[in-house]
Amino acid sequence: MNNRVWLSSPHMGEKEKEYVSEAFLTNWVAPLGPNVDIFERQLSDYLGVKGAVSLNSGTAALHLSLISIGIKPGDVVLCQSFTFAASAFPIVYMGANPVFIDSEQDTWNMDTVLLEKAIVESIEKGQKPAAIIVVHLYGMPAKMDSIVSISDKYQIPIIEDAAEALGSSYHNKKCGSFGDVSIVSFNGNKIITTSGGGALISNNEDWIQKTRHLSAQAKDAAPYYLHTQIGYNYRMSNICAGIGRGQMEVLQHRVARRREIFELYVKELGNIEGVSFQKENEASFSNRWLTTMLLDEEKFGIGMNDNIRIELEKCNIESRPLWKPLHQQPVFENCVRYINGVSDKLFSTGICLPSGSNNDNEVIDTVINQIKKVILK
Ligand SMILES: *Cc1c(COP(=O)(O)O)cnc(C)c1O
Repeated sequence: MNNRVWLSSPHMGEKEKEYVSEAFLTNWVAPLGPNVDIFERQLSDYLGVKGAVSLNSGTAALHLSLISIGIKPGDVVLCQSFTFAASAFPIVYMGANPVFIDSEQDTWNMDTVLLEKAIVESIEKGQKPAAIIVVHLYGMPAKMDSIVSISDKYQIPIIEDAAEALGSSYHNKKCGSFGDVSIVSFNGNKIITTSGGGALISNNEDWIQKTRHLSAQAKDAAPYYLHTQIGYNYRMSNICAGIGRGQMEVLQHRVARRREIFELYVKELGNIEGVSFQKENEASFSNRWLTTMLLDEEKFGIGMNDNIRIELEKCNIESRPLWKPLHQQPVFENCVRYINGVSDKLFSTGICLPSGSNNDNEVIDTVINQIKKVILK
């Protein structure tokens, strides 16, 4: 992919090709097959959960999560505002209504004070929210102890969007194992990839079974195609699962390297006044999917993040603003929101830096030097 330095590009290990070849040699060039079975077992073993269903995207996994939980048209679903739009799109597929919850300063993830306020106000209006979608943004675990206790208190299920957080943990429990239903993504830019894919994860074996059924067109047992439910064509192919099988074997190395890259940035830039990074707390371990940096507006003026992006682009280095909060997205302009200014501020002052595990130290040093050129001027 030429000489461009990417934010996060696929990083294959030794075995992916072999597992894909196996699929060709045995003609399992189909959805389902041995790679799919093995990949799903690797995932559920790794996360310590009862079941995982591999699907063709994280977005599909979120859609089927909402279906598992039984979301109905008109339901209210509370969703973290500071995230990629795919966290919320499936709410709309269901005909349900997203209500956006802002972030808290520590983890950049769902603010539990606003979450509880939204729940109480929604109940007062006679509509108890039907689900909470919480995200571990950039791999940083959300404060799951508080979120789980709110979920328990009001009996509202959690959908855990761990698309960016495979390999992260909170109090030594893996992200992707906290939700009533959880999802991960294997899109090409994520910490490991299947070229495109996702998985739904749960300890609820009925939901796992139901998801497996619905994701393969809801074919009932009969010699002809018999359907008593609406199905979806969301399964992962045996080819993609072959890639995933190899990637699962190197996941911990990918996490270790991303964390090293984060440390390189912090070492060289972290002491500059006005520069700061997303911090772990005593309970959290981040996979450091993307290193994200904040530039204090009082120190640097408005728009330093964009100045850096433009300068890096001149050197063929990709960087990107942080996720534009969903409450700022035109497509969601009519949705209810609970806002405290945190994600707006993060969006206006932050930047995502090249973080792919396949970058060597020399590349990261080049990025760092370019950044220094801009901010120390
Ligand atoms: C990538 C991502 C998704 C969607 O996953 P796809 O596999 O690309 O469909 C959902 N939520 C978040 C937070 C993501 O980063």
